Amino acid sequence: MTFLIRKDIFARRVKIYGKIETLAPLRIGKGRGETNPESAATMQIIRTYDEKPLIPGSSWKGIFRSTGEKIAKEKGIFTCTGLTRQTCMDKILNQVQSLMSKDIDEAVKLVWDETCINCKIFGAPSLYSAISLFDSVAEKFNIGYRPMIAISRDTGAVTKSALATTEYVEPGSIFPFLLIGNNLPNYAIGYIIKIMRYINEGLVQIGGNKSRGFGFITFSKLSLEVSDYRDGKLKAIDDLDKEVNIELPKDSEGKDFFSKTKPLEEVFDNAKITFPHNNLH
Ligand SMILES: [Zn+2]
Repeated sequence: MTFLIRKDIFARRVKIYGKIETLAPLRIGKGRGETNPESAATMQIIRTYDEKPLIPGSSWKGIFRSTGEKIAKEKGIFTCTGLTRQTCMDKILNQVQSLMSKDIDEAVKLVWDETCINCKIFGAPSLYSAISLFDSVAEKFNIGYRPMIAISRDTGAVTKSALATTEYVEPGSIFPFLLIGNNLPNYAIGYIIKIMRYINEGLVQIGGNKSRGFGFITFSKLSLEVSDYRDGKLKAIDDLDKEVNIELPKDSEGKDFFSKTKPLEEVFDNAKITFPHNNLH
């Protein structure tokens, strides 16, 4: 079965939520051209209308997708870059569209066979994401400022107004975290949790100024809820999947959460991912 990419069938809802705490300065910055012209010398962070620092869901998705790419590479499975016009879906879009009106099952099979795990979970053109990552608005925070040398992007030279200030969120700031997934097999839940563990263990930094030691965070008060959890078990929901015995963590600190969810990571580690067909090693 192809539940992971089916939006017309409800098999399972997954919810992971908790808090994150910044262990180092965190800079989720505005893109070029989005900064306030009145403070051009300050590289601003993204904020809500009432000035609270914000990690947009789209930033989370980018972080999760790129961390997943690293994990998939370690496991020897192919993932596309996810960049515009370079996804797995882009290669088969015309074929899928012409099949849609003739044979919907064939269209679903083609998408299943030819897309990588990241396109299936994080989405691609004409393929809705299986998960939503919500905006995180800071609940407790301090803002810091640090002078930076600005190098002209046009000439590469250090300019006269070379000293700019960058804004960041101070260590010890707290944000909420919420992820909701639909029809995720156990191996996909395991994959997502492994991504979170990589972030939690500092194997991955988030946001800007990574080379200056920014972007280390830790998870806390984490809960995992799965709608079809019964008798201490999560059943297998497709051919690649395995049933697991597990106690779902509730309000757990990072370490405890990741040790309780180890069985799910193991299902991912042992899963023989058979897609995308064209790129098997
Ligand atoms: Zn892909």
